[in-house]
Amino acid sequence: MQIAVIGSGTMGNGIAHVFAQHGFAVSLIDVNQPALDRGLATITKNLDRQLAKGTLAETDKAATLGRLRTFTALAEGVAGADLVVEAATENEALKLQIFRELDQHAPASAILASNTSSISITKIAAATQRPAQVIGMHFMNPVPVMQLVEVIRGYATSDDTTRRVMELARQLGKTPTEVNDYPGFVANRILMPMINEAIISLFEGVAGVEEIDTVMKLGMAHPMGPLQLADFIGLDVCLAILRVLHEGLGQPKYAPCPLLVNMVQAGRLGVKSGEGFYQYTPGSKELVVAPNRRFNGFN
Ligand code: NAD
Repeated sequence: MQIAVIGSGTMGNGIAHVFAQHGFAVSLIDVNQPALDRGLATITKNLDRQLAKGTLAETDKAATLGRLRTFTALAEGVAGADLVVEAATENEALKLQIFRELDQHAPASAILASNTSSISITKIAAATQRPAQVIGMHFMNPVPVMQLVEVIRGYATSDDTTRRVMELARQLGKTPTEVNDYPGFVANRILMPMINEAIISLFEGVAGVEEIDTVMKLGMAHPMGPLQLADFIGLDVCLAILRVLHEGLGQPKYAPCPLLVNMVQAGRLGVKSGEGFYQYTPGSKELVVAPNRRFNGFN
């Protein structure tokens, strides 16, 4: 079975990795050759990590890499695909354009899946002539580690497409969970209001960064507090998803906290910019100092 993955960034290289590791031939496609090179380097590094942990054999590493091919031309990369998983930049106009092209160049029988975090699967499907074969396949970051695949049925997605995608996710050793296509699906509809409420608690001076994260870590057994998690996800990404929820569901409870808006406007995006609710060594997830106390209360 032939899989094509569009986009070789954070998610795309992880998706290509797990499919190749589980015996699928994978075409990894990106408009940007350096992104493909970085993607392959990341896959190799992550396979080495699995080798070191003893969860992968040396021969499996070579076989996994042997099943991967890279392309910069979409038409060439998807030519023989049975399933395409799109994991390009989160931009609606870009995704609609990619799906129009996929519809032209992928075999008529191919399933077209998107890894989008927040864009309507129904809208993406409507850009194609095969909406029954379009579905959301929402992997979690880091893909080789996280167990969940949120499988999102658009308005027109068929039972057969859903069944096949659920089965494929199981073949990757993942647990697929079927949800319907409404803003934020399930994962972000529940996660983002929690993160927003943590930011509102900080903004209103209810508690400091560390205190809020400690309550949620130790009190609710979350592996990471919501403010640190927001830094990891990217504050710009959190804001964009909250806007999708606010606009799509039309309720004031989803309005992004003004502090989040301000931080994004200031370029404080979390790990990727070196500073969010915490400070980080540039280019690393390592905390360098205690939480950024400047945001406590109204000061
Ligand atoms: P990223 O910025 O790391 O990678 C995106 C890649 O897409 C880049 O390499 C870019 O060159 C490539 N690209 C852009 N336009 C393209 C095109 N026309 N054709 C082919 N490649 C193209 O982004 P990411 O974090 O990997 O996110 C990808 C998707 O996954 C988004 O839809 C995002 O919402 C979703 N997602 C992200 C996460 C996460 O934690 N990062 C989690 C779940 C879902």
